[in-house]
Amino acid sequence: MDAFGLYLMFSMLATQVLPSPNKRVEYPLGLLPCRIFQGETYRSLSRIIRNMVLMYPGGDIRYEQSGLSDARDYIEQCFLYDEFRPASHLGLASFFRVMETISYHGPRNFLIQAAEMMDQGDDLLIPVSDVVSMKDFLSLCFDFYLVDLINGHDAFAALASIQAGVNSDSNNEVYARFVEETKNLPAVEMKLVFDPVTRAFNPIYRVTSFQAYMALEYMQMLDQNVKFRRCQNPACGKFFVAQRTTAKYCDFPSPQNELKTCKELYPQVASREKTTKDAVLKSIRGAQSRLYNVRRRHPEQSEAINRFLDEIDARKESMSEKVVTGEITLADFNKWLESLTIKKERNT
Ligand SMILES: [Zn+2]
Repeated sequence: MDAFGLYLMFSMLATQVLPSPNKRVEYPLGLLPCRIFQGETYRSLSRIIRNMVLMYPGGDIRYEQSGLSDARDYIEQCFLYDEFRPASHLGLASFFRVMETISYHGPRNFLIQAAEMMDQGDDLLIPVSDVVSMKDFLSLCFDFYLVDLINGHDAFAALASIQAGVNSDSNNEVYARFVEETKNLPAVEMKLVFDPVTRAFNPIYRVTSFQAYMALEYMQMLDQNVKFRRCQNPACGKFFVAQRTTAKYCDFPSPQNELKTCKELYPQVASREKTTKDAVLKSIRGAQSRLYNVRRRHPEQSEAINRFLDEIDARKESMSEKVVTGEITLADFNKWLESLTIKKERNT
């Protein structure tokens, strides 16, 4: 493989990433975008790369074509910071494509367009009024790269939330724009390779844009009827893909305990929550029936007892929630219920 880019092949329910012709890494179809656009990788692809561009050691050197090869080497090193190879390959490819386009047509032609992108993100490095230094050039490239990353991310969020049935109006807007933009998507190239075993031609895709990648993966997902779902762990809510249509929880590290996935952890959390809720409910019923008994035996105290019962009604939900979230213990909760009683007059 000669040109830079993320090389992909699609087979039954899988995305194969080809770092080199004879070395393939396979991911379940739809998983790569979930990993690239959610969590740490997405942050490192934007924040770390931005900082690296700002720290470019040859930053003050005048921008010249001859400086491009050093800049390319530097950018290549930057992307090694993200350990998730497909993501760093795609990021590097997007950045290189932008560098090539801008240096080919001349940076000045891109300044106005860059200034127009200002509302696209806080992390952009514009405005550059002129490209004088290598740092100016890389900053300009970074902005186009970042906008591609954001477009890819937004397309992912829109497509995933629509499939999972949790889409908002803004998701729908992004979706409409995405469909429009795919009409002239840059950065997907297809090459046919002959497989002597199956005696068939297979397409290999070279991708150099996050947005184009999202379109390509999504197209395959539609073809093979694979859908995004949303993790039912309320603390997580990430999108994921699964073969089983009944899958509720994702395979990513859970927010409650990074060493366990939501799939491993959440059913336990849910059952523990249920046990706690049952215990809380039992305490409430116990307290209420105790108060009913007192009222029956001492009608003269019914006014005070009714106040206690009203207080239980008014606060039981917020107090139970505190027990479930661990803010207070069940013992504290029971103490609160026990305090709702008429203090016996003590003779001293
Ligand atoms: Zn999850």
